[in-house]
Amino acid sequence: MSSPIRTRFAPSPTGYMHVGGVRTALFAWLLARQTGGQFVLRIEDTDRARHVEGAEQHIIDSLKALGLNYDEGPDIGGPFAPYRQSQRLDSYKRWAQQLIDSGRAYADPYSAEDMQKFRDQAQANKQPFLYRNHRPDKPPVWDGTMPLRFKSEPKAYQRIDAVMGELSTGPETIDDFILIKSDGYPTYNFAHIIDDTEMRISHIIRGQEFLASIPNYLNLYEALGLTPPIMATMPHIMAPDGKKKLGKRDGAKDVLDYIRDGYLPETMLNFIASLGWNDGSEQEIFSVQELIDKFSLDRVQRSGARFDEQRLQWMNGAHIRNLALDDLYALCAAYWPAEANQSNDNYKQQVLGLVQERLKFLAELPELTGFFFIDLPVNPELITSNKQLSKLSQEELKSYLEQAKASLEQSDFSLDDLTSRLNDLLTTTGQKPGILFSLIRIATTQAPFSPSLAETLAVLGKDRSLARLNSQINAL
Ligand code: GLU
Repeated sequence: MSSPIRTRFAPSPTGYMHVGGVRTALFAWLLARQTGGQFVLRIEDTDRARHVEGAEQHIIDSLKALGLNYDEGPDIGGPFAPYRQSQRLDSYKRWAQQLIDSGRAYADPYSAEDMQKFRDQAQANKQPFLYRNHRPDKPPVWDGTMPLRFKSEPKAYQRIDAVMGELSTGPETIDDFILIKSDGYPTYNFAHIIDDTEMRISHIIRGQEFLASIPNYLNLYEALGLTPPIMATMPHIMAPDGKKKLGKRDGAKDVLDYIRDGYLPETMLNFIASLGWNDGSEQEIFSVQELIDKFSLDRVQRSGARFDEQRLQWMNGAHIRNLALDDLYALCAAYWPAEANQSNDNYKQQVLGLVQERLKFLAELPELTGFFFIDLPVNPELITSNKQLSKLSQEELKSYLEQAKASLEQSDFSLDDLTSRLNDLLTTTGQKPGILFSLIRIATTQAPFSPSLAETLAVLGKDRSLARLNSQINAL
């Protein structure tokens, strides 16, 4: 086993836990768990304008719901507390002072208009705009009312990203960036470097949107005399069409919404891990322990991974089928249709056993099982819209149902007896199952689909089944 890895998830509290964010959290968590290391939650709340009330709690709730437990964090503390950037301003000031003292940071005296002038100038000269071309000759003493800017030292970099591989950039990508804003808060660019250093983070897992800035970060690490952690850049997650980055409008919900709809936490982790990672085999369904055992950064792909909700549904169905019925039953408590309150556990377990095969997410339960609990009114459309049944006359339909009723009246409603009686009915009526069983199914469930007919009738029971057959006969 490799030496313990310390990773962190460092979200900004913007109020929404999208799958991309959860993926970086998951990969960081997997590395920490796999090596007996630690996973740290740090809240990056230095952008006061974007701060959303309650967002930190939402992040914590989401991680808990997914089972991504952290070893240190804002609500539980740890050896490097505090874990909220807004509470670490003294730290940033201390490191900023070190940069000022070594001549590697300066107060930026320019107004927005000055900056615009510089930009216009650069454009007129057909040159890229760089802050470092406009350093003030005699910068004022930094008193905290002006931004503090890093004085970079442009150079080329060649580096290894744990996912993207070898990357080279030229000196033109290096520029003077703001360390501390005029409101006294640090930028992400500065704060994360200080925090990752002080918190002894060994691996940074983060999204592709930061890739272009990394040479600047390396320049700052050097100015501070620090060795940067290992960095791993995740590919984008693409919209279902595969053409653009996944956005809020592409149907991807907040992770907690998926959990609320009855997607299992282990499905979410399996699915999100599969966005850009596989273990090199054909295996698609992974338990959480298998993910911990098998995950590795060098099998994360470099190109964008497509978000496909159909696949998420399929995967959740597979995880649901893998559950023992008792365990699934315990998870379903909050999802039954209201009318199921009247039924006992035994009946509900039997119903669940019948639909477990087809259940894709728990919030589907009322739709799939409603007829087991509610006597729905006869719906003539179910017959008229059925291609085969609509060809039969009312008399024929009625006669088949009468024959079914006569036979089922004699049944003890055990599965065996029902199965053989239904088969006999095929012979006596000379009908195909597609017709006869569809008709009996519609009469007894008022639903176009149901689990196997004999099993459905066995669970529904004799009284209910016969009463429903009667109602359908009377309605014809
Ligand atoms: N606060 C940054 C974000 O939410 C974190 C980036 C990082 O992981 O370093 O995008």
